[in-house]
Amino acid sequence: MKVGCVKEIKKYEYRVGLTPENVKEYVNRKNQVYIQKGAGEGAFFTDEMYREAGAVILDTAEEIWAECDMIVKVKEPLEEEYDLIRENQIIYTYLHLAADRPLTDALLKSKAKAVAYETIRDKNGGLPLLKPMSEVAGRLSIQEGARCLERTMGGMGLLLGGVSGVRQANVLIIGAGVVGTNACKMAVGLGARVTIADNNIDRLTYLDDMFGSRIQTMYSTDSALEKACCEADLVIGSVLIPGAKAPKLIKERYLDGMKNGSVIVDVAVDQGGCCETTVPTYHDNPTFIKKGVVHYCVANMPGAVAMTSTMALTNATLRYGLAIADVGVEEAIRRDGLLALGMNCYEGKLTCKEVAEAHDMEY
Ligand code: NAD
Repeated sequence: MKVGCVKEIKKYEYRVGLTPENVKEYVNRKNQVYIQKGAGEGAFFTDEMYREAGAVILDTAEEIWAECDMIVKVKEPLEEEYDLIRENQIIYTYLHLAADRPLTDALLKSKAKAVAYETIRDKNGGLPLLKPMSEVAGRLSIQEGARCLERTMGGMGLLLGGVSGVRQANVLIIGAGVVGTNACKMAVGLGARVTIADNNIDRLTYLDDMFGSRIQTMYSTDSALEKACCEADLVIGSVLIPGAKAPKLIKERYLDGMKNGSVIVDVAVDQGGCCETTVPTYHDNPTFIKKGVVHYCVANMPGAVAMTSTMALTNATLRYGLAIADVGVEEAIRRDGLLALGMNCYEGKLTCKEVAEAHDMEY
């Protein structure tokens, strides 16, 4: 199969759909791989690295879309790409169609076969192609939070791990899922005093077993959260209710009792945020201060560490991508039923229940 990868054109998106290592895997299995010139630059993969791995470099996105049977990307196609999508072409990328009617219509019109990373499930019902980005965001949340605590960022000038004779920071993590667990690992590793809250006792038990007395687990209620926020130096918001907007657990009134120069990193901002005072921010100006509390609310956190994020994402996407390229998407789905859940649009038909429900369309 002819497999192509274009440069991402979404603002602040530095990730790329295929790494040079991935290219080798596709080429070893008798596929031809075409990479747009400069596609990997944002993640520090040069054209030369792709060439050495066996790819052909083409100058423009138009050439890639026109040449290839399958396009591997990171983000959804944007409006300027809609007309490049061809009938029967396989598009394998994040799509988030439930929130994007124009793209849904464009994909149906094109009669392409669109496989969305975010709807593929594993045997346990997990989302294997979303998980790596939550891992990245969770670990990064502590790194960014630590930086926001620095005086120059508006923080109180506190070192997360303290030093001999000086207290460490109090970190409160709200939501003990993938993001929260990874934030917990980093905060504990840096020597902070960590409290992690969830309303799912099983998650708290799991973390208690994992970290023992190095952390404090807490059942999430309004009054417990308010008290913990007021004692915290750094708060990480990492809750998720699947398919719904994030619950506004950190109330604006909490900020009146919070320490001057404390920090909230609202990782759940991509679902609307779990803090009432959250406003989405971008990498070029990631923070604002409200009532003396520094807010970091970047919706695309993994983009900041594009190299790690690209490798983590493509480690997860590679096996499905190869399966599709090996035998075609129809046969790949026959062999792995869970991959079928990724198929969102097929030759002009909507094939994902959640997307159909979101747009009140037939499926
Ligand atoms: P997850 O499903 O693994 O974990 C979410 C946790 O929130 C669960 O343990 C759940 O029990 C808990 N929760 C739900 N309601 C709660 C409540 N009222 N009180 C306390 N806990 C509650 O999800 P995840 O993969 O960890 O993702 C967390 C959030 O991070 C999501 O909103 C996701 O979209 C977001 N995210 C953002 C970025 C970014 O760049 N900003 C990147 C990745 C993920």
